[in-house]
Order: sequence, then C-alpha cells, then structure tokens
Amino acid sequence: MTTTLSTQQAPSLACASPASREKARPRSKYKAQNEQDRCVACGVCVKMCPKDAISILKGCYAVIDEDRCVGCGICEKNCPAGVMHKVTR
Ligand code: SF4
Ligand code: SF4
Repeated sequence: MTTTLSTQQAPSLACASPASREKARPRSKYKAQNEQDRCVACGVCVKMCPKDAISILKGCYAVIDEDRCVGCGICEKNCPAGVMHKVTR
C-alpha cells in the first residue's frame, strides 16, 4: 500500500539546517579542561573525543575547543597522564 502525504501532513521545507540545530542545542554544563603544563601530548584524547574538540598544539599539549566540547568526560577517563578533567563551565 502506498501512503501519500497531503500538503498539511508533509514536513516543512523550512526545517533548520543541521548547523543551526547544533547551535540551538543547550550547552552542557560541563566541559573538558587539561593541565597543559603536565600534558605529554600523547594524542589519546584527540582520538577518543567524539566531537573532534581536541587538538595537539605544535606537538606540545592538548587544547580543547570549548564550543565543540559536550562535557562527556571520555577524554578524562582515557588520559593516561591524568591531566584531563571534566569541570563545570
Ligand atoms: S569532554 Fe567529551 S567532548 Fe569534551 S573534549 Fe572531552 S571527549 Fe571531547
Ligand atoms: S590524553 Fe592526556 S596526556 Fe595525552 S594529549 Fe590528551 S591531555 Fe595530554
């Protein structure tokens, strides 16, 4: 059986773009923060972050993009040096 949507049932073509939906989402009250002076730049957190929010700055230490970070804490759990922390924004 084929179902046809009437104009009233059809989804609006004016839906927000994925980028604007991302922006509209409420921010987590948590974020990641690391002790850059103790970071050994191993890159584990970069690989584990589901939001691509971490990069290694000039091979020296990890930096976190707070706008991308959702405060999931995965980087904290996996940092072998114990220098990544989930903190309140
Ligand atoms: S808390 Fe989650 S989203 Fe934020 S930097 Fe760590 S792994 Fe990425
Ligand atoms: S996992 Fe820890 S030690 Fe390794 S780069 Fe990330 S913050 Fe630095």
